[in-house]
Amino acid sequence: MKAHDGMYIDGTWRPAVGRDVIEVVNPADEQVIGQVPAGDARDVDTAVRAARAALPGWAATPPAERAARLAALRDVLVARAGEIAETVTAELGSPLKLSQTVHVGAPIAVAGSYAELAATYAFEERIGNSTVYQEPIGVVGAITPWNYPLHQIVAKVAPALAAGCTVVLKPAEDTPLTAQAFAEAVHEAGVPAGVFNLVTGLGPVAGQALAEHPGVDLVSFTGSTAVGKKIAAIAGAAVKKVALELGGKSANVILPGADLAKAVNVGVANVMSNSGQTCSAWTRMLVHRDQYDEAVELAATAAAKYGDRIGPVVNAKQRERVRGYIEKGIAEGARLVAGGPEAPRERGYFVSPTVFADVTPGMTIAQEEIFGPVLSVLAYEDEEDALRIANGTVYGLAGAVWAGDEAEAVAFARRMETGQVDINGGRFNPLAPFGGYKQSGVGRELGVHGLAEYLQTKSLQF
Ligand code: NAD
Repeated sequence: MKAHDGMYIDGTWRPAVGRDVIEVVNPADEQVIGQVPAGDARDVDTAVRAARAALPGWAATPPAERAARLAALRDVLVARAGEIAETVTAELGSPLKLSQTVHVGAPIAVAGSYAELAATYAFEERIGNSTVYQEPIGVVGAITPWNYPLHQIVAKVAPALAAGCTVVLKPAEDTPLTAQAFAEAVHEAGVPAGVFNLVTGLGPVAGQALAEHPGVDLVSFTGSTAVGKKIAAIAGAAVKKVALELGGKSANVILPGADLAKAVNVGVANVMSNSGQTCSAWTRMLVHRDQYDEAVELAATAAAKYGDRIGPVVNAKQRERVRGYIEKGIAEGARLVAGGPEAPRERGYFVSPTVFADVTPGMTIAQEEIFGPVLSVLAYEDEEDALRIANGTVYGLAGAVWAGDEAEAVAFARRMETGQVDINGGRFNPLAPFGGYKQSGVGRELGVHGLAEYLQTKSLQF
């Protein structure tokens, strides 16, 4: 895909006010593949004004028509799936198959789900002598990360548009080309000018200007907990609504009656997929002391099989960060059973699929989000111990429980302080609410819960 040298604002591609640019690098071979403008507060202001001007018209558009635009958007994404998957692979480095099935496949499903929800949701209900309306919150400032570049955008823009909100998107610096492809798709789908706007730029410049802009009613942010805290402070000071999808350190709890080999293999695949750059990845595997040695061996074998099949991490900084964590794991006494800090290739930001055994709950690698292909295997003594370890971080985004008996797994999952748990390998559900307990975030994305984030309630009494 050819990079645009402008911003998509008010239905057209227009030049940025300043001259700064962001270079886009292919993490698999470190080659520059394009550049996009680095917008600043002036571009953000233009985009927010366009979104505000478009708001009354879009908010008043019948939900069925909003649904039709979203269905058209889904169809354009389907028609352009191949090209977008190649763009994701070029700027994120994920293997093409993963880009096709997950990076593009999931957002197509999500866009389709919001086309249906916009058409069927009860935006109005009668409660006693009142009529209660669900009205759009207004102008949304959406700030997204690079790890699932299209999905993170669609998970915000589709429900916002379904609700009748208008949007200014500031995507991640590393993956702006996917965001440009999305803007093209929105245009092609016939979404009216100003309803969706794109400003590429640096987080502390364009991102911060968007969060601070008085014309933005809701800031919807996905990214690190550190930046999320800043965004929450900015929004709080202005009494602006805020939705935060932040980091995670999820536990994969394997109870004694589970199918151990399956639980370990699926667990390793979950961490290695997307090179470990998944906020909901189960990066802590918890195994009963009696099965520990067998589980470690299975995990090491499974990780070694990934060898060359995973892509690089997104950039040099992330690679250094991940390697730093691997070195810290070794220094703190964990036992390396697969992978390690050495670069597996000369070119590209690759990290070897890595597994640590003898990890204790207090170690840095068991507490902090690494965001790379690194799995820690921890031993527990009994269920209470497993629960203490599972709940023993500041995060609470996702998790998994495996048991011989589904009811036993459910009982354990109900005691976990986390927003999503997969039971015995349960599948991804694009309609299930996704979001965090504790420092993993505020609010929920996807399905009807995700739509509700973009609505506010008005009641009229008769
Ligand atoms: P990041 O927080 O550095 O960046 C995320 C976005 O925020 C980017 O668009 C960036 O430009 C912008 N940003 C950075 N500084 C900003 C500032 N001061 N003001 C406004 N915007 C700013 O995160 P990242 O490195 O891009 O992504 C990795 C992190 O995101 C991981 O911690 C991961 O767990 C988290 N994440 C969470 C979810 C989730 O759903 N919970 C999903 C994906 C990623």
